[in-house]
Amino acid sequence: MKEIKVYLSEKDIPRKWYNLAADLPTPLLPPIGPDGQPLSPDKLAPVFPMNLIDQEMSQERWIDIPEEILEVLYRWRPAPLRRAVYLEKYLKTPARIYYKDESLSPAGSHKTNTAVAQAWYNKQFGIEKLTTETGAGQWGSALSFACQLIGLECKVFMVRVSFDQKPMRKAMMQVWGGKCVPSPSEETQAGRDILQKYPDTPGSLGIAISEAIEAAVMDTSGKTRYSLGSVLNHVLLHQTIIGLEAKKQLEMISEKTPDVIIGCAGGGSNFAGLAFPFICDKINGAKIDIIPVESASCPKMTRGEFAYDFGDMAKMTPLLAMMTLGHQFIPAPIHAGGLRYHGMAPLVSQAIIDKLMAPRAYDQLKGYESAMIWARTEGTICAPETGHAIAATIEEALKAKEEGKEKVIIFSYSGHGLLDLAGYEKFINNQLKKYILPDEELKKSIKSLDGLPKIPS
Ligand SMILES: *Cc1c(COP(=O)(O)O)cnc(C)c1O
Repeated sequence: MKEIKVYLSEKDIPRKWYNLAADLPTPLLPPIGPDGQPLSPDKLAPVFPMNLIDQEMSQERWIDIPEEILEVLYRWRPAPLRRAVYLEKYLKTPARIYYKDESLSPAGSHKTNTAVAQAWYNKQFGIEKLTTETGAGQWGSALSFACQLIGLECKVFMVRVSFDQKPMRKAMMQVWGGKCVPSPSEETQAGRDILQKYPDTPGSLGIAISEAIEAAVMDTSGKTRYSLGSVLNHVLLHQTIIGLEAKKQLEMISEKTPDVIIGCAGGGSNFAGLAFPFICDKINGAKIDIIPVESASCPKMTRGEFAYDFGDMAKMTPLLAMMTLGHQFIPAPIHAGGLRYHGMAPLVSQAIIDKLMAPRAYDQLKGYESAMIWARTEGTICAPETGHAIAATIEEALKAKEEGKEKVIIFSYSGHGLLDLAGYEKFINNQLKKYILPDEELKKSIKSLDGLPKIPS
């Protein structure tokens, strides 16, 4: 029998996160205010605790993981590296396909990795309550879980369409003590404004973020902060534990550096978590194809612009230099809720501009088709987001077969789909639409970049 699971023991867990900002060939552009001036850290202080703001701006290559954070992560980390031998056999590919199984975390995805870290830093700073947004509900449940264990209150604004599609996610948040409302809600000015303009809106992450930030900064006690589940530098930093573990695990079985690295990318965090620790090798000459995979209904990396844009619809965030569809973008109600964000993490965006990685897009039917092949070979039911990564993995494995090459492919299995079965059911009954963003809609939403400060050329 081939070895198909590689475990690390607790004592081998990585003790430092890796910060790509230290090694990017082009220095990261700073966040700026609407006046075009770089943002001073104190401007962010009403929104984030200062210890996380420091981390956001850090240029240190390695950052210690506090022992108390590891104490919580031990519940499921180190996560296994698995080999998808059954899929390999089905595809008759000479490629060896590995994946990091992030579906084993208590909330079911990689998001707990940063949720625990963010809750801990907030607690250290004296914060008592966190507000956040959630798309598919993975982030809201991860943060509810983390807040419960660390001892914070948690309030979640959940994108309306997902709130309706995935009611059990709300129950999950409640089990861990989180409070969840559909967004747009009547609780914030941002929410009320949108509801007045678009009463039937399915909602978007951009709207839910506006609401969560507003709810944090309006708390006059000063004990509430906002927490974001992806996109920002410190979030991607916390996720690098995935790739750092994977490196050790590949070494343990004497496997070579991967030829191909794949992850689905909504805001970029699970993809970056796996890929960034390997990018160092690529910058130093290793030949690795690194592929972030997005939804064709929300194609900021393959069809968007690299521009300064807001992270939310109500323009409450600083302007970030990122690949974007424009902050006014309202994505189609696809089931992969985690892939419905208009912008891509600045670190990932800059790495794409620097040609360190090459993005790809698939529509949701391709995602579910691939997820079904996976479930019927490997056996597990993945999140619809993860299905997009599997689509690219299958394509790469078939390419290796054509070329007759024994490639090593590794991808991030970002989450399970046990609360996404309604989407699977629709797919099986042919009720899902193939949704690719039409050009006219793209042009319209890109217009929301007009008048914003430009990236200096
Ligand atoms: C949130 C989520 C994603 C997308 O978010 P990233 O920050 O790009 O990782 C992908 N897969 C799952 C299972 C998710 O919950």
